[in-house]
Amino acid sequence: MLRLPTFELHKPTTVAAALEAAAASGPATRFVAGGTDLLPNLKHEMIEADHLVSLAGIESLRGIRLDGDDLVIGPMTSLTDVASSELVQERAPALAQAAGVVAGPQHRNQGTLGGNVMLDTRCQWINQSYFWRSALGFCLKKDGTECHVIEGGKRCVAAVSNDSIAPLYTVGAKLVFQSLATPEMIAAGAPEGVQTRPVPVDALFKADGAYNKKVGLQELLTEIRIPALPAGHRGSYQKLRLRGSIDFPQLGIAARLDLDEAGVIVHADVVAIVVAARPVRVKKAPDQLVGQTPGTPGFEAALAELCDLATRSVKALPNIPGDTEWRQRMVPVLIEDAIRACV
Ligand SMILES: Cc1cc2nc3c(=O)[nH]c(=O)nc-3n(C[C@H](O)[C@H](O)[C@H](O)COP(=O)(O)OP(=O)(O)OC[C@H]3O[C@@H](n4cnc5c(N)ncnc54)[C@H](O)[C@@H]3O)c2cc1C
Ligand code: SF4
Repeated sequence: MLRLPTFELHKPTTVAAALEAAAASGPATRFVAGGTDLLPNLKHEMIEADHLVSLAGIESLRGIRLDGDDLVIGPMTSLTDVASSELVQERAPALAQAAGVVAGPQHRNQGTLGGNVMLDTRCQWINQSYFWRSALGFCLKKDGTECHVIEGGKRCVAAVSNDSIAPLYTVGAKLVFQSLATPEMIAAGAPEGVQTRPVPVDALFKADGAYNKKVGLQELLTEIRIPALPAGHRGSYQKLRLRGSIDFPQLGIAARLDLDEAGVIVHADVVAIVVAARPVRVKKAPDQLVGQTPGTPGFEAALAELCDLATRSVKALPNIPGDTEWRQRMVPVLIEDAIRACV
């Protein structure tokens, strides 16, 4: 049996108290939401933390509401609540679908949208026990000097595997982070106290699987904001996994199509996850699909061309368990499924 290492647990009831606890506890501190990913990673000694700041007692971080034109989801809202929310289903259908296929039902009851957004990357050589990894000589992501996926690789390519991220990209979500101003920030002219930083979701990630986010560990995600989308908005999320009841994705594709009143596509977006450390946007999607009308021969030809082109930019790596060639062959299949589900 794998045991949890010892740590000090902080239980704040306000965001300000959580930020203060994190700032006072030093760099080896983590926020814990549902704990469904963080606690296994601590047991596997993939992460070392002396202090955990629990977000469970902060009521202001829960719930789904409208704020002006924005749909605002608190990061401590469970995935079950996100999936079953009529507001989310109506305004961001692909996100509701994605939340409903994360892991299994118990994980979705306990796991949160914020924890899913901030999920660590995954790789078949790192999501193992310490003993297993030590036998291999470890790897670049933790304790080692080489990558077992890319021979001679200098950067970790563990896969971004959070299902909610691809739909959040396609709806142009904004993530709001809060943190306490550090002495360096104050010296550079920032006011003392709580700092608020909105980050467009497609600016959150970097191509380094060792830590694939551009925000620091002391920054607390406090809101997920989704702008109002046009009446003709359609979204879909398609997930490839071995066991439909519980598994992480082996590939995830979110698609967005906005149709005008005449049924013509005026906006198109396709985003893939699990192929690299950061999500991959299929840049050819708008070129192929905008201006097309679903159901016409022109649309069918454009969709076939897009699926073909996408296989050149969406390349599966042997970074997660499973057959890489099968995952690669499923790229055009899932893109077609996602687009057809939209129309
Ligand atoms: C068997 C199994 C199957 C799984 N399958 C899937 C799957 O199919 N798809 C999938 O996406 N995930 C899967 N997961 C992972 C996990 O259950 C989900 O991603 C879940 O949404 C994580 O949320 P959590 O609240 O439990 O996060 P936690 O484990 O509490 O936290 C995850 C990370 O986010 C950080 N964090 C949490 N909240 C905040 C915040 N507000 N601000 C800043 N940082 C924060 C934590 O510090 C930690 O680094 C699986 C897990 C297991 C055990
Ligand atoms: S991609 Fe390479 S460095 Fe990263 S976790 Fe996997 S084996 Fe380790």
